[in-house]
Amino acid sequence: MRRPPRANGYRDAWCGDLDASRSGSQARVSGWVHGRRDHGGLIFIDLRDRSGIVQLVFHPENGAELFAAAAKLRGEYVVSVAGDVVLRDAQNVNPNLATGEIELQATAMDVLAESLTPPFPLDQDVEVDELLRLRHRTLDLRRRQMVEALVLRHEIVRTIREALSDEDFLEIETPILTRSTPEGARDFLVPSRLNPGAFYALPQSPQLFKQLLMIGGYERYFQIARCFRDEDLRADRQPEFTQLDLEMSFVDEEDVIDVNERLMAKVFALGGLDLPPPPYPRMGYDEALLRFGSDRPDTRFGLEITDVSEALRGSEFKVFANVLDPTRPGGGVVRAINAGAREVPRKELDELTEVAKRHGAGGLVWAFVQDDGTWRSPIAKFLAAEEIAAVTAALGAQPGDLLLAVADTADTAAAALGALRLHLAERWDLIPAGAHDVHWIVDFPMFGYNAAEQRWDALHHPFTAPTGSFDDIGSLRSRAYDLVVDGSELGGGSIRNHDPGVQRQVFAAIGMDDEEAEERFGFLLEALRYGAPPHGGIAFGIDRIVTVIAGRDSIRDVIAFPKTASGSDPLTGAPAPVDDAQLRDLGLKSLVPRAQ
Ligand code: ASP
Repeated sequence: MRRPPRANGYRDAWCGDLDASRSGSQARVSGWVHGRRDHGGLIFIDLRDRSGIVQLVFHPENGAELFAAAAKLRGEYVVSVAGDVVLRDAQNVNPNLATGEIELQATAMDVLAESLTPPFPLDQDVEVDELLRLRHRTLDLRRRQMVEALVLRHEIVRTIREALSDEDFLEIETPILTRSTPEGARDFLVPSRLNPGAFYALPQSPQLFKQLLMIGGYERYFQIARCFRDEDLRADRQPEFTQLDLEMSFVDEEDVIDVNERLMAKVFALGGLDLPPPPYPRMGYDEALLRFGSDRPDTRFGLEITDVSEALRGSEFKVFANVLDPTRPGGGVVRAINAGAREVPRKELDELTEVAKRHGAGGLVWAFVQDDGTWRSPIAKFLAAEEIAAVTAALGAQPGDLLLAVADTADTAAAALGALRLHLAERWDLIPAGAHDVHWIVDFPMFGYNAAEQRWDALHHPFTAPTGSFDDIGSLRSRAYDLVVDGSELGGGSIRNHDPGVQRQVFAAIGMDDEEAEERFGFLLEALRYGAPPHGGIAFGIDRIVTVIAGRDSIRDVIAFPKTASGSDPLTGAPAPVDDAQLRDLGLKSLVPRAQ
């Protein structure tokens, strides 16, 4: 329950808190004119503050001057109004409004500010062009949906702060102006005026600082940290975003997972998310990729992927024979989805093929199982009857079922079928309303091969501890874990390398020789040599967590002042050119001609 405001000249109650229990008393409220109606010689004003809305009524008999002033009120005027809290007649009760049983019969009013007509309605739940909303974010923030999202966001962050403080974590800030921290993205750079030619990097995460805090003896740290990554933006990305970042010493995976699932259960409860209590189920990376085609599997619907390579080994059909050829570099698989009994026209099958192609597959095989067990499919004539029967059986398919298959490398087959699953779930509306799922994804490979650059990259980041032998880099696993909810990666972390020797081996594996390692991460390597405790941690995307819990489509709807998909801010106009003089001070010269 909200505490009442400290009474002053503007108000002694919140709009949203006036209810029947206050009837017969007087109250003064302040806020914005949300809507008005003139009715039966009376003026009704819906007055809005952050807490909600209350109906004001102006009677002509309460003073001609007051009534005339009320007649001049327009949307978004700011007023302070005193009056009597009165029960409404039964037929006028508004069950949709928390304050719907009462109204405030105005006896005095101060108009505190007038307002231009807003460019979009704030009192209706209508679709408004997002660019317009962002351009006028101040007004957009007044809308109920935004208030609710930001209140929820606050509650989530507050729950995190309280829960972690209760578990002996310390909240410690780390620098924004720092050196590059590699999380795999491009850095935002800040030129240093005092050190011409030198640059700070904005942190992609507080990764190295939190490790230094552990080595510094702080044992349990957290921070609600702003992170910056200069990546190509996608719907669920912002160039700056907020993480719950935490790190612990003298722990293994189980300790980190344990603290965090207890914490997240509290956070999920705030949104009333229907999830099982911890411990949350765990799924190995390989299994997630095999069955769901993704390391952030959405398990709320079926359409699981099955590997049918065995059923097709020895096939004379060229496409399958090539892919399954044991001497093929990089190997190959045939994997398939049983999409169930669906009438899918040719045009839609072509669309599905496009989806698979967009995710790297050369094509998509489709087949309908017919009553006699044979297939209606462009490739049916190339397959032996036993092959068709074996694939049908492996997929548990019945007559009428649509089968979709990809023949490619394991990675591409997973990516294409994983994307196809999500596409079909949306197209066929397969996710039950209100359904949620949660998993820890564990047992990741330590490195992934970057064919374009011909080198190994750390799949999480290079400070993650590997398991296995460096003799076969591709076979190393990592002590990393991700928390995935509804197919969205909410968080990820790992146990780190506290042994400087292992840390150097990891650097070497990603092609960083000792000299470069010292140059870039000397401060970490040195710290590791002064007695580093075993440590590990995790980071959660606060924006994503709030989006999932609030059930919103876009992270922009849970951030007060977000950027657009192209990284600009229509409100302030950032990013914007700067004066030549400013550049000169920084020792910089722009190569981009100034737009006229
Ligand atoms: N620093 C990592 C990230 O930002 C998370 C972690 O390993 O704790 O993704």
